[in-house]
Amino acid sequence: MMLNHAEDCIARCRALALHTEEPGFTTRTFLSPWMHAVHGDLIQWMRDSGMSVSVDAVGNLRGRYAPATADAPVFWIGSHLDTVPHAGAFDGILGVVLGVKLVQLLSGHPLPFAIEVVGFSEEEGVRFGFPFIGSLALIGQLNPAATALIAGAVRDFGLNPTDPVAMTDASLGYLEFHIEQGPVLENLGLPLGIVEAIAGQTRMQIIFEGKAGHAGTTPMNLRHDALACAAEWICEVEEHAGKTFGMVATVGKLEVHPGAPNVIPGTVKLTLDVRHQMDATRRHGAASMLDAAHRIAHRRGLSVSSAITLDQAAVPLDAQLAQALARAVERSGHAVHCMMSGAGHDAMVIARAMPAAMLFLRSPGGLSHHPEESVLVEDVASALSVGMNFLENLA
Ligand SMILES: [Zn+2]
Repeated sequence: MMLNHAEDCIARCRALALHTEEPGFTTRTFLSPWMHAVHGDLIQWMRDSGMSVSVDAVGNLRGRYAPATADAPVFWIGSHLDTVPHAGAFDGILGVVLGVKLVQLLSGHPLPFAIEVVGFSEEEGVRFGFPFIGSLALIGQLNPAATALIAGAVRDFGLNPTDPVAMTDASLGYLEFHIEQGPVLENLGLPLGIVEAIAGQTRMQIIFEGKAGHAGTTPMNLRHDALACAAEWICEVEEHAGKTFGMVATVGKLEVHPGAPNVIPGTVKLTLDVRHQMDATRRHGAASMLDAAHRIAHRRGLSVSSAITLDQAAVPLDAQLAQALARAVERSGHAVHCMMSGAGHDAMVIARAMPAAMLFLRSPGGLSHHPEESVLVEDVASALSVGMNFLENLA
């Protein structure tokens, strides 16, 4: 029976993926005309499930399931409706479709709290280079510059940018279902993971300065090769992160100068991205990596300069809600696995305003932000039964 509902959820996500700016792909940015069609389908499903529906002034789609008694607090379930270019059918929207399905499964029986299913209008930051517009607006933290930046798009969509957005009801908490977008759960053979924290990030720009020279006439012992130095350091970065539980570190961009086949590289500019759920561990790791850069460069007769371009703190999610989720996962017959999210999500913004929780669903092949992104029907059924368990217990 849950399998049928899971199949229905997958079919809904696949149908919504057809509302796209680019035929043959799924590309749907903030308040593009195709978002009207997504709203149209979801509004129908929300109404069929017994919800009253509204669209707020930044384009968040909000379906409200009334509580047993008036002025009861709200429990939020949501994720985002926008996509990256050439996206898959599940990133974001699955969390909204699952919320609507859970309300449908309540079959009109009211709970001691309202449920508001929210489809955030914007999370990916594609259209304006500015992410989390929907969730920031909901908690009243979209800054005036961003509000001004999007006003034209809001008007073009048929909304009034000066209408109030921020939630006013007392909130019990927020739950976001989301595909993992990585290979961890698949590797463990598990359908679901409970997110404990969204990782913090350090980003750095590092420059190794050596000496360019003739590739034919400069003997090996007289070189100060910036790329060889960078290569040695990159392997050390990989080793350091590999030895630190839960840390990931990436050198994702290299510029080699002068960049000719017959010239020894004189300068290498590169980026370093370090993530961990504990800020102290992340900062300590990044500092050790920088020390290693200086040590290796010194030994090879090069110099190093560096700048930190981002130091973003980790966001712990609510421990009590995570425990409640863990009990629901257990009651549904699955192993409990707690993990960090290496990517940002709406939950990390909402966590500033109320207790927030996230449940990851296994991503086959670890694939996401890709047309072949998928999800297993059994895993969606498991997420639905965990969701029902969770809501019943909260009630
Ligand atoms: Zn997402």
